[in-house]
Amino acid sequence: MNYQDYMNYHNISDEKFELLKKVNTKIGLDKTLHVIFVYCPPKLGSTSLVSSIRLSASHIFKVLHVHDEQMLKILTGIEGVTIQEIIDFNVFLEKKVYVIDIYREPIERKMSEFFGKIASYHFNVTNRRIESYSLPRIIKRFNQIFTHIGEGDYYLEKYRDIITYPPPHFDFVTKYISHKEGKNLIYIKLRLRDSNKWGEILSTLLRTEITIIRDYERKNLPLADLYQKFKDNYILPINFVDYLRNDRRLSFYLTPDERKEYIQRWSNITEQAFQSFSDNEYKIYSMITDENQSRIDIESEHYFDDGCICRECSKMRRLVLRQIKHGVKPTSRLSHYVITIKPKQIQQEIPQQVPQQVPQQVPQQVPQQVPQQVPRPIYIIPTPQKQQPNNPTIVMKLRTSRFHR
Ligand SMILES: [Zn+2]
Repeated sequence: MNYQDYMNYHNISDEKFELLKKVNTKIGLDKTLHVIFVYCPPKLGSTSLVSSIRLSASHIFKVLHVHDEQMLKILTGIEGVTIQEIIDFNVFLEKKVYVIDIYREPIERKMSEFFGKIASYHFNVTNRRIESYSLPRIIKRFNQIFTHIGEGDYYLEKYRDIITYPPPHFDFVTKYISHKEGKNLIYIKLRLRDSNKWGEILSTLLRTEITIIRDYERKNLPLADLYQKFKDNYILPINFVDYLRNDRRLSFYLTPDERKEYIQRWSNITEQAFQSFSDNEYKIYSMITDENQSRIDIESEHYFDDGCICRECSKMRRLVLRQIKHGVKPTSRLSHYVITIKPKQIQQEIPQQVPQQVPQQVPQQVPQQVPQQVPRPIYIIPTPQKQQPNNPTIVMKLRTSRFHR
């Protein structure tokens, strides 16, 4: 497509074109010919996917992880462009563009989303305070908002070209669906339940070997014990079984047998019916919760691989990839800060300072025998964005990233 056709077809003004160029530079897509957008709602296992592709193929692909335009605004400071427009712009620039979304079963997704913001948003208290709350109190809140959170499917409801040409069904043989739009744009949908096959699937689709690693698991995060207790003790109210039966995405993404097994598993033991908030009640709940929130709800994601392609990071990446393939514990997380800046700082500055902006969700416990003034373990230290201006490493998640059907 030539410039004029592109401008006309997508109804792009000259100002918008300039803005898109600026965004592309800011997010580091101007220096690569192969782009992967992991463009999906939060809490679907995407952090692990992002790190895996970066670890295996940063020399080929630039991977951008984005949940919505709000998050894009935080990453770039730019507003007024949509993610679809950035996708189209890169296709126009004749880059090979992949857009990936993930499906996760509803209850697990809702639980994960709820716990991601339980303290700062839903109860407006500290993590420590939440730990003192009774389980019934937490479960009650979860049930009140159950039908409203963790909703929506980007692949079928947000990806423009898929909405135009919806797939008839999920492919249960290959375990993915993909849609090729024109020469250079490919949309892909995976299921979290197939994550043990993602390596194989992505190696085929991306035409390069992809090794999958586990990343950002909740058991390493604060409130991990409470979350586990919640999952172990949660019993589905009986009327929520109907919610599952009526869930059309569950019917789309699971085979009849998988769906039956899933619903069966959750309806083996149920408790009495619970009335979730109505749409209007939930609107009021959201409004008041937004207004009450006393701490800015920005949750940074810590990737195992931040995707920096400087020499030192690339060298470490090759070593770590070999280690992972051989089942050896990796020497380091692939963070430019951890690999290049932190070791020098530790040498020079021991013992005085612990980084200032350690986020609240960082695990509290430092091993007991370690003297307090020693910096915390390197893997939990956030990477300051200024180290890699074109390579955003900390992805912010806002409470506003909820996606409604
Ligand atoms: Zn680097």
